[in-house]
Order: sequence, then C-alpha cells, then structure tokens
Amino acid sequence: MNLRWKDENAPKPQVRQKNGITWLSYPLLEQCPGIRNAFSTREGGVSEGIWSSMNLSYSRGDDPEHVTENFRRFAEAAGFDFETIVTSDQTHTTNVRCVGKEDCGSGITRPRSFHEIDGMITDTPGVVLATFYADCVPLYFVDPVHRAIGLSHSGWRGTVHKMAAATIREMQKVFGTNPSELLAAIGPSICQDCYEVSEDVTEQFAQTFPEEVHSRLFYRKPNGKYQLNLWEANYQIFLESGVPESQIQMPNLCTCCNPDALFSHRATGGKRGNLAAFLWIEE
Ligand SMILES: [Zn+2]
Repeated sequence: MNLRWKDENAPKPQVRQKNGITWLSYPLLEQCPGIRNAFSTREGGVSEGIWSSMNLSYSRGDDPEHVTENFRRFAEAAGFDFETIVTSDQTHTTNVRCVGKEDCGSGITRPRSFHEIDGMITDTPGVVLATFYADCVPLYFVDPVHRAIGLSHSGWRGTVHKMAAATIREMQKVFGTNPSELLAAIGPSICQDCYEVSEDVTEQFAQTFPEEVHSRLFYRKPNGKYQLNLWEANYQIFLESGVPESQIQMPNLCTCCNPDALFSHRATGGKRGNLAAFLWIEE
C-alpha cells in the first residue's frame, strides 16, 4: 500500500498486513503490554464501488452483509473476536461512556444499548472499543498504571469542545487516571493543508484556545477562508490536560491526502465508506 506521509522523518504508525488486509498501529500505545490498537485502511474488504473495499459502517448505504463480513475479516486479521466490539454512536458530542462486557456486540451483532456517545472508556479486558472516521480525528488514550483505555471521535465540533479533555476527565473519575501517566495518540485524519473552513468555525477556535497558539491552529487566506489544524488543536488539548509531550503520538497521515488508501469525506464529496479505530485490552 502506497501511503503519503505528512513528514517522512517524523514518527509513523506501523503498517501491518494479514490475509490481504492492511491496518495501522501506533507503537507508542503498545509500550503497555497487552494493550492493542488498530486503524483500518480501505484494503482487504468485500464492499464495492464508493465503499470499496473495507467499509466499516452500516450507516453509509452499503450492503449490511458486506459490512458484517468486513468486520469479521478485519477482527480476525487484527487478532480479536468481532462479537466483542462495542461501537460508538457518533453525533459530534463530548459524551463519554464507560462500557463493559454487557455492551459487547453493540452496533454489530445487536442494536446499540446507548445513544449519542462519541467517546468510550473501559478497563475490562476483551472489550474492543471501535469508533469511525473519514477525516475526523481519532483520539486514543492508554493508562498503563490502571490498565484502562479510552477512544474518542473528535471532529471540529468535538475538538472545539475539547473532547480529549472530556475523555481524560472521565478516565480520572472512573479509573483514577493521572494525565501525566497517559499515553495518547491522534489517529489518521485530515491535515491542515486539506482542511479549509469558514470564519465562523475559526472564530470558535479563537474563543476557546489561548491567543499564543492561534497562529499554529489556523491562518486566513486571500479568499477569506481559513485552513484549520485539527492535529495541533488536539495536541494542545492533551498538553493543557497534563499529558507530557513525549507521550503524545501525532498522526503523520492525512485521510484526504491518501484517498485511495483511506476514506476521506472531503476528497470524495461525501461518497465514501468509513474507516474504524480499534483499541482493546487483551484477555
Ligand atoms: Zn492532507
């Protein structure tokens, strides 16, 4: 698979392959033995057309049997049981839910037991968290001390409302997580060069983030539009929350710069399937 890295010299996720399926894993998160992560690519599924081929979403108009087969194949390759997946119900909120064994299969083998949840946390081994993407930002959280994990979806709305901080607060409350001990990763998502937004969006970022970081978050173009950096915004939120710089892995991979390998909403004008991020504690 040909991937265009944002920076050839910066740390990259590892590219893994099995049974014709390609996925990405962030090595920083694997410093904690028994905690695994995987981010899907388009490669290795059975879906066709705009969903070709590893579409992992039932809500994009694809044949549900193809989607289930994709989940089954992906899980087998990455090394987990697809019936233990718990899927988020993403609606651009900062709602975070602690999930457990009783939620396994939610959104895949049976209807979801909860709604409007963009982030999930757990400390139960064998519960596979899954969230969905096609340009929005995946956020991974690993607490190696309490052996707890979190996975959150953060588009521009989630980012301006600081989904990363909301997830960390919930992990503090439920597991006693200390942010200084967290390992964090920002997953494949749209880069600043590809992400043009209008002024009403950057205004909200200007109000939320301290002025000294504004120049790193967005700049104005002659056409009156802005280019917004969701990677840097989420990085700043991790720092603000007390996660040390050396414990944050940046994505280094843009969905929109790699439309053949990854699903991108912007690159396809919305005609696309979904990628998925998975994070779990091995049983
Ligand atoms: Zn890009």
